[in-house]
Amino acid sequence: MGARMRWSQYFIPTTKEVPTEAVVPSHQLMIRAGMIRQIAAGAYAYLPLGYRVLQKVTEIVREEMNRAGAIELHMPAMHPVELWQESGRVQTMGDTLIHLPDQPWRRGTVLGPTHEEIITEIARAYINSYKQLPVTLYQIQTKFRDEQRPKSGVLRTREFLMKDAYSFDLNQAGLDVSYQKMYDAYCRIYQRSGLPYVAVEAESGAMGGHASAQFMVATDAGEDYMVRSDDGSYAANVERAEMAPLEDPGCDDLKPLAEVHTPGHSTIEQVSQFLGCRAQDLIKTIIYQADGKPLVALVRGDHTVHEGKLAAFAGVARVEPADPDLIRQVTGAEVGFAGPVGLEARVIADQAVTLMHNAATGANKTDYHVTGVNPGRDFQITESADIRYAVEGDRAPNGSPLRFEKCIEVGHVFKLGTKYTESMKAHVLDENGKSVPMIMGCYGIGVNRIVAAAIEARHDENGICWPMSIAPFQVLIVALDVRDESVRATATWLHDELESRGVEVLLDDRDARPGFKFKDADLIGVPVRITVGKRGLAEGVVEVKKRTEDEVLRVAPDEAVARLLPLIEAERS
Ligand code: ATP
Ligand code: MG
Repeated sequence: MGARMRWSQYFIPTTKEVPTEAVVPSHQLMIRAGMIRQIAAGAYAYLPLGYRVLQKVTEIVREEMNRAGAIELHMPAMHPVELWQESGRVQTMGDTLIHLPDQPWRRGTVLGPTHEEIITEIARAYINSYKQLPVTLYQIQTKFRDEQRPKSGVLRTREFLMKDAYSFDLNQAGLDVSYQKMYDAYCRIYQRSGLPYVAVEAESGAMGGHASAQFMVATDAGEDYMVRSDDGSYAANVERAEMAPLEDPGCDDLKPLAEVHTPGHSTIEQVSQFLGCRAQDLIKTIIYQADGKPLVALVRGDHTVHEGKLAAFAGVARVEPADPDLIRQVTGAEVGFAGPVGLEARVIADQAVTLMHNAATGANKTDYHVTGVNPGRDFQITESADIRYAVEGDRAPNGSPLRFEKCIEVGHVFKLGTKYTESMKAHVLDENGKSVPMIMGCYGIGVNRIVAAAIEARHDENGICWPMSIAPFQVLIVALDVRDESVRATATWLHDELESRGVEVLLDDRDARPGFKFKDADLIGVPVRITVGKRGLAEGVVEVKKRTEDEVLRVAPDEAVARLLPLIEAERS
């Protein structure tokens, strides 16, 4: 009786106003349902109801990590900055890395945004032979990132819970196996959490390296975009998406090349307006600097250069926009009038440019453009490739149309390689006694994001619709007419009976109007509601209703228990 979970012990502020700068549904619902409370920008308290959900997700993550053979440990959140200098990431992390102010007794401390450096430090201390490999270690721990504008509730905060895992292998084949195990475990985690996820090919980002996948949940609350092909065979982060080559529309009326005076008109918008043509009729000419030399990229006026693709094709580490001096030197004109005709530099054209006819572009002469430009006739294209971002209307490499969707990233698996084990010298002796750097993979899941993404994916106009597996409670008992002795007795009997069978039950025994209590029940989203009322009991029944169904089952209290137990067991995980 003492352990009975009563509504009044939870902080469910049904009528609380929601701060308006937070616009995503999960944030509003989490506050209204008493799951979280903002303590500072980007930092939330998980109230008892919210914490139950967070713990459920944590437990699913832990179970699946263990099932995949990963081993749990725990690393500190405070790191010596020296480890981050050793890996070179103090620079690349920039403002995201939180530095604690130096004190006479403590210097150079940062708060961990992720733990590659720390795990590598541990690995180099304890792993020295190939016989200890493979091994995958993980932790579930608070991360700190000074995100500039945390604005989507717990989807992006400065302090958040992450499960991060790191695999160590002797060779690439071993890494492939370790990676696949984590990939499969992630799929099970999202499936068990009731998340409709999509695994997409991903850009590697600040970590450097090759194969990586992101796990996305499609939602308007997201800040990322993914593209998916209609036939379902291709999915990628828009940062990474590859497209089928465009087809040549053909043209049998090639215009002569002509110079046009375009004083002060240099942007795509200004020039297309001035010349009365579409943005896609212009050739955008962008001068970069790579390895100290100019590199010119050509894309259609309505396309955007993908600097990663450009650098990869050009065979350089990275490209940087040229400064005005270099642009003047290369084009002989002010900034904004560059074009490929007569240009002396290495030029890489996007595939779409090779199909353009009668285009307009800069004349390499201040205040002038040229029209009637035809590649092949007016300038030669010696290097062309896919060097742009995908846009609406593009097709996947297999030709199926691509759809763009907003999404939120709930996890990331990544074949890191030897980036950290080389820079931090985490070597092992291989079978031949040779010292080689271990090969790493890293795998991150945002635990809070799973909670919020589950709400984004499963709510209606009345509130949250939890899947059984991560619901804060599996059953909510709503006692109406609480002053009635038989109602109180039946409601508490149901509570205790279900609880003794391992069901998590919340009892709403507040003295309030039925409509009010039903509204709150819908808001907090417990999957099954049992209503105990005077009128029903007079007929010997209580009412059982699922959150997502309209149907109401009227059965005797013991019958309700008998029917619910198998249902809850089946849906629990
Ligand atoms: P994003 O692009 O959304 O900032 P990220 O690429 O920085 O994410 P990772 O470094 O791969 O993310 O971190 C692993 C996981 O941690 C992410 O997949 C995400 O689920 C979660 N995560 C990252 N940043 C945050 C944050 N600020 N708040 C909550 N969860 C986060
Ligand atoms: Mg980030």
